[in-house]
Amino acid sequence: MRDHPIFNDKHRAIRKTLHEFVTKELAPHADEWEEKGEFPSSVFHRMGELGFLGLHYPEEYGGQGGDYLCGVILAEEMMHSLSGGLAMAIGVQTDMVCALLHKVGSESIKERFLRPALKGEKIGCLCITEPDAGSDVAGIRTSFVRDGNDYILSGQKTFITNGVRADFAIVVARSRGSEGPKGISILVVEKGTAGFSVSRKLEKVGMHSSDTAELAFQDCRVPEDNLLGEEDQGFNQIMWELQPERLFAAISSVAGAQLVLDTTLKYVRERQQFGRPIGKFQAIRHRLAEMATNIEAARQLSYHVAGLINAGEFPAKEISMAKLFATRVAYQVADEAMQFHGGYGYMMEFPIQRFWRDSRLARIGGGTDEIMLEIISRQMI
Ligand SMILES: Cc1cc2nc3c(=O)[nH]c(=O)nc-3n(C[C@H](O)[C@H](O)[C@H](O)COP(=O)(O)OP(=O)(O)OC[C@H]3O[C@@H](n4cnc5c(N)ncnc54)[C@H](O)[C@@H]3O)c2cc1C
Repeated sequence: MRDHPIFNDKHRAIRKTLHEFVTKELAPHADEWEEKGEFPSSVFHRMGELGFLGLHYPEEYGGQGGDYLCGVILAEEMMHSLSGGLAMAIGVQTDMVCALLHKVGSESIKERFLRPALKGEKIGCLCITEPDAGSDVAGIRTSFVRDGNDYILSGQKTFITNGVRADFAIVVARSRGSEGPKGISILVVEKGTAGFSVSRKLEKVGMHSSDTAELAFQDCRVPEDNLLGEEDQGFNQIMWELQPERLFAAISSVAGAQLVLDTTLKYVRERQQFGRPIGKFQAIRHRLAEMATNIEAARQLSYHVAGLINAGEFPAKEISMAKLFATRVAYQVADEAMQFHGGYGYMMEFPIQRFWRDSRLARIGGGTDEIMLEIISRQMI
């Protein structure tokens, strides 16, 4: 991959440091953590200690004071951990949880949750999805009532990344009796709050090293100080949060696809059939060229959007285009790569199967392909 003009020397230095850390301290454990079904929480602590969780957050809250592109580099370099689950778990912390805490949190919330989250001392999760409300965020049923200076919260959330180990959960809920996007607010619920429990750790097709939880809230008493942002403004706030989350998915997908292509190029140069390397067959070479072209197109679109975000814009249409295109490309690339690896590609001992399983999620999580098409097309017609 060539260098790109959106990055400057400071970015390049950060990339080098991150790359060394990820390839030396994380990648060697990828197989073990995938098999075990989780990576140790000490990874959050270590990355926080090294300043990697706060690259694009202000120094006043314990961040490194870098720009948004530093976060883009983190998303890319985390793919070199060779574990999509680990990359996703870190992304949830940096680009979902911390993004929201920083954007709408009060000073008290920033001190109690953002600062320790950037240091890796507290792990957070973001709870939007419910068993009966996924794409339709305004259809959530988790609800609260006021009781003096507290909110009493009840409901259920599912598919929550980092949910099993989280020290706090950011919960999207509605005032009891409200309907649709109105009446939605966001509350931070701390681990140990009576009535807050992990009902189940969910088994997944891929992303094995990340934990995914079903969470229950039964009459949880949440102090009003833990309201994140303004009451009744939760729907707009969560729609904003989805923007950095979606671009993170696009950027990670491109980086993952590039890794898969590089691995595949090595394989097709070495694997011999009919007396020659399989990469010499035109049928394969042309498809490799298509993979490379699609990855480059996805990269350029994602970087273009990253540049807009870096300049303070959050263009929902273009972000949705980048997510739609890049995540589709990543899955197609993983699928073609498996084809070129033949039977070995289907074996657990080769890394391709993991990319193939992991990359499928990005077309569903954080807004499905269909929802991306809906957002894009609504702004066209
Ligand atoms: C491993 C994993 C991790 C996740 N992590 C989190 C997390 O940390 N926090 C969190 O809150 N959520 C998380 N999610 C949930 C994820 O964001 C949702 O799964 C996703 O938004 C889709 O919702 P759903 O699964 O309910 O599908 P549904 O909304 O039921 O959709 C089912 C199908 O119907 C289609 N569909 C729905 N509406 C329309 C429409 N209007 N037009 C056309 N087609 C439509 C969808 O595109 C999809 O193909 C995670 C999911 C997974 C699998």
